[in-house]
Amino acid sequence: MSKQYQDIIEFVRGLYNTTDFIPLHEPKFVGNEREYVLDCIDSTFVSSVGKYVDRFERMMAEFAGAKYAVATVNGTAALHICLKLAGVGQGDEVLTQSLSFIATCNAISYCGAKPVFIDVDRHTLGMSPDSLRAFLAAESVMTPNGCINKTTGRRLAAVVPMHTFGHPCRVDEIAIVCEEFGIPLVEDAAESLGSYYLGKHTGTFGKLAAFSFNGNKTITTGGGGMIITDDEVLARHAKHVTTTAKKPHSYEFVHDEIGYNYRLPNINAALGCAQMESLPRLLESKRQIATSYEQFFSNSGKKFVAEPAHATSNYWLNALVLEDYSARDEFLKELNDVGVMSRPIWRLMNELPMFADCQSDGLANAKWLEERVVNIPSSARL
Ligand SMILES: *Cc1c(COP(=O)(O)O)cnc(C)c1O
Repeated sequence: MSKQYQDIIEFVRGLYNTTDFIPLHEPKFVGNEREYVLDCIDSTFVSSVGKYVDRFERMMAEFAGAKYAVATVNGTAALHICLKLAGVGQGDEVLTQSLSFIATCNAISYCGAKPVFIDVDRHTLGMSPDSLRAFLAAESVMTPNGCINKTTGRRLAAVVPMHTFGHPCRVDEIAIVCEEFGIPLVEDAAESLGSYYLGKHTGTFGKLAAFSFNGNKTITTGGGGMIITDDEVLARHAKHVTTTAKKPHSYEFVHDEIGYNYRLPNINAALGCAQMESLPRLLESKRQIATSYEQFFSNSGKKFVAEPAHATSNYWLNALVLEDYSARDEFLKELNDVGVMSRPIWRLMNELPMFADCQSDGLANAKWLEERVVNIPSSARL
């Protein structure tokens, strides 16, 4: 093994003070998790009813500075309902980035819509407002039925940027483009709990946003998600359709539209309340780790992905930009072989068979990043 990999491996092992396997991201339960979960079991309220769901929603709304929060069974379900409530329906198209986790495109597909792929910025790894504006200016036409894609004749029903690895994209400028073209903005904020742009929490720039509390995210509820919005009508509707659309009644079962069983169980919300209490400490630790990596890699020829200008990142997953594809594969092999987990960024969505026929704007930056970006161990140390 060459000296450069030995040095990296030694550094990561020193950071986490272990020679055992080092995962990419593991959960940390150092607060009231056990107490709250046991309380659910002792009270028998482990499922769809209980006090922790409301409490978790209030904590999340307050933390993000949103008026309302609605808990869901996972982040994909949260994003599905955000899109549905933003008006995305059968035969529509949704502008998003091809550099994302599969859940973004899955949620779009659940609405009967198709993604259209817009390029990302190299420094934020998130949707480029310039590419979005260029695409809409050249390829769309405004009609009384909304903004229509000239090539396909379909309605462009939403714009969904994603804050990759917790680094905020230029979402304020994206919001301005959305305003200009009359398209609702829905943020996939699944990875960016604790990330801010221009002092505002990610997920508060558009109509609705989705968060995830999967096991590998900054905080976890086992599985879970959250919708946030400032719109009271949308918030009520989100609660209604994620809980089977049952009309409130003390004994009758009457449902007034097709609903979803997307509830977050109380026992998962209990975990969420305890995790929210620990969130400030988790974020502080993740920032320290990122700072150490940034210093270590500063004269290594590998570019550490640092938080963009005007942004505070949660540093959910630390990332490096390597020189090229061959350097990437060597890097991944050397680290994984000795139990220091590392993985490449996702395969672009337009390269998967389900989305291969979707329109795109060329995706020059997304392709460049796909060949070069790797993630390195990022768990908090508590
Ligand atoms: C994690 C994640 C989601 C939601 O995932 P779930 O596993 O369903 O909670 C959505 N979008 C992105 C970009 C994600 O990383």
